Amino acid sequence: MRILSETSYAPDPDFAAAANGKAELFEQADADFEGFWADQARERITWAKPFTQTLDWSNAPFAKWFADGQLNVAHNCVDRHVEAGNGERVAIHFEGDQGDTRTITYADLQREVSKTANALQELGINKGDRVAIYMPMIPETIFTMLACARLGAPHSVIFGGFSADALHTRIVDADASVVVTTDGQWRRGKPAPLKAAVDESLTKGDHPVKHVLVVQRTKGEVAWNDDLDLWWHDVVDRQSDEHTAEPMDAEHPLFILYTSGTTGKPKGILHTSGGYLTQAAYTNSIVHDVHPETDVYWCTADVGWVTGHSYIVYGPLANGATQVLYEGTPDTPHQGRWWEIVQKYGVTILYTAPTAIRTFMKWGNDIPAKFDLSSIRLLGSVGEPINPEAWRWYRENIGGGKAPIVDTWWQTETGGIMISPLPGLTTLEPGSAQRPIPGIAAEILDDMGEPFTEPEKVGYLVLTKPWPAMLRTIWGDDQRYRDTYWSRFGEKYYFAGDGAKYDADGNIWLLGRVDDVMNVSGHRLSTAEIESALVSHESVAEAAVVGATDETTGQAVCAFVILREGFEDDGDDTVQELRNHVAKEIGPIAKPRQILVVPELPKTRSGKIMRRLLKDVAENREVGDVTTLADSSVMNLIKDGMAKG
Ligand code: ATP
Ligand code: MG
Repeated sequence: MRILSETSYAPDPDFAAAANGKAELFEQADADFEGFWADQARERITWAKPFTQTLDWSNAPFAKWFADGQLNVAHNCVDRHVEAGNGERVAIHFEGDQGDTRTITYADLQREVSKTANALQELGINKGDRVAIYMPMIPETIFTMLACARLGAPHSVIFGGFSADALHTRIVDADASVVVTTDGQWRRGKPAPLKAAVDESLTKGDHPVKHVLVVQRTKGEVAWNDDLDLWWHDVVDRQSDEHTAEPMDAEHPLFILYTSGTTGKPKGILHTSGGYLTQAAYTNSIVHDVHPETDVYWCTADVGWVTGHSYIVYGPLANGATQVLYEGTPDTPHQGRWWEIVQKYGVTILYTAPTAIRTFMKWGNDIPAKFDLSSIRLLGSVGEPINPEAWRWYRENIGGGKAPIVDTWWQTETGGIMISPLPGLTTLEPGSAQRPIPGIAAEILDDMGEPFTEPEKVGYLVLTKPWPAMLRTIWGDDQRYRDTYWSRFGEKYYFAGDGAKYDADGNIWLLGRVDDVMNVSGHRLSTAEIESALVSHESVAEAAVVGATDETTGQAVCAFVILREGFEDDGDDTVQELRNHVAKEIGPIAKPRQILVVPELPKTRSGKIMRRLLKDVAENREVGDVTTLADSSVMNLIKDGMAKG
């Protein structure tokens, strides 16, 4: 199969001179794997009690990192920066949906987190108790997460777009005795209820909740239950702003987080303290290249996803970075809102998802062109493979044609970035996440479980060594942990569930979920590559490809496309042209049997395309579980289009 990218981009020497990610890191990690991670943990983290043992893998696949050490995660993210004299540095530039703003220094953060920790303690939360957090992107969400970390009370953040049912399952699964929420959340300039979903979830059956702590955000009307409900301003505001953080064991649970549910029932991923924080801080430093004294960093993910946990809360705050926190959507009140924010705060590092980039492409180049984006020096991407076309658009239109882009592959389960270029060091190959970062080991296996390095052959991505931020188990289900990740290729390999291949230069290309890799007349085709071919056509903004059962070819390629603004659906002509375009870009074997122009694609609430639902449509089946879908009406539009087409 032909590689879609024709150009690679050599690192800029000026960038390289100041970059945190140095070539020596690879040498050090190769020479002494455990010593390398021990160094990272000692350099980047403040330990209340130093560790003497690095990795304990004797009970594989259950790992322990830095097990006899002790630390407090919140102390590392907040207090130590104040103690080091950086209390006046801005931690968070908060930008509200309504244009309201708040500047929070590290000293402010210390006071707010201390008050919140005192309040939670008053509500009976002690070390080991679980707290559910169901909140929008506001500072109180971060205060609550850090207050939990401070108390050693694992949090379970549930994305604010989830329904009452999803909330109930997660509250019960984690046995959370306190839920922190808001009266409502701002969405596209309008208030939408939020607490109502918590109220409803508590009617869905037995529950462990003793208190619901409610931040007043939209001042909308809320139902009130005197037995459970408490206002944040009544309970938190009157607390002392001092709180002593107690050291926790390195393996003390930090949080539970459910995966996005792209492929099936979400899994409650458990992360612990010392290893997780080490890798979050390390990757934010060498991959995002954060220089805390000078950078303004902005990760646009929601804190409800792992990207928000590792790269809004724990990584950047452990590093003492200054960042932007934005509550609203990209198109409210106008489609240039993000770029206006970049200009306003002088954002230097922007980390976002391909789905957002493709949306901006669809809206047109003239929108970002109206703003001064010259402060940007580094761009990042996460969540899905980024099509080379979208990569180039991002670099040209947002990165001034020169900012390096780090395409970071990782998962909720990995806790931190695993495969990514290092800015200033790696010659960038658009569309490929390239190489494991220093300290991480990955391989690609064939059907027999044998590693290979042959270019262009499609296989399974596995991780071959434990890593500090790895999940420790699936909450309450050790067996599912073994079955899901450590059985497909035996206990030697962590099975990531993603298809992958090497190119001739040894770069790793992620090809979509293993379940999404198609077999057409005996050829293994990747959804990601055909999607990239479609997106490289001038008329296509987004594409989703699935393999549908076909009597003659085994599977046939079915494509769903969204057109860019200014392009019309000319029926058969459009379809023919796109089919020929794929044949030219990849080969005749990859030509879609069917192409359907659609107004929207089904996406999870984290913005990922849910191919299994499209596969149901392509195979004329009843559409499966849609509970993790962001907008369930999308599927009806697509089914109607299918019936007509
Ligand atoms: P579930 O496991 O419940 O199906 P999910 O896998 O979508 O949900 P996440 O942990 O949020 O949940 O996403 C991790 C997955 O996202 C990876 O396994 C991979 O498929 C995809 N991914 C993330 N970053 C990249 C990237 N840079 N390139 C390619 N794929 C990526
Ligand atoms: Mg997954």
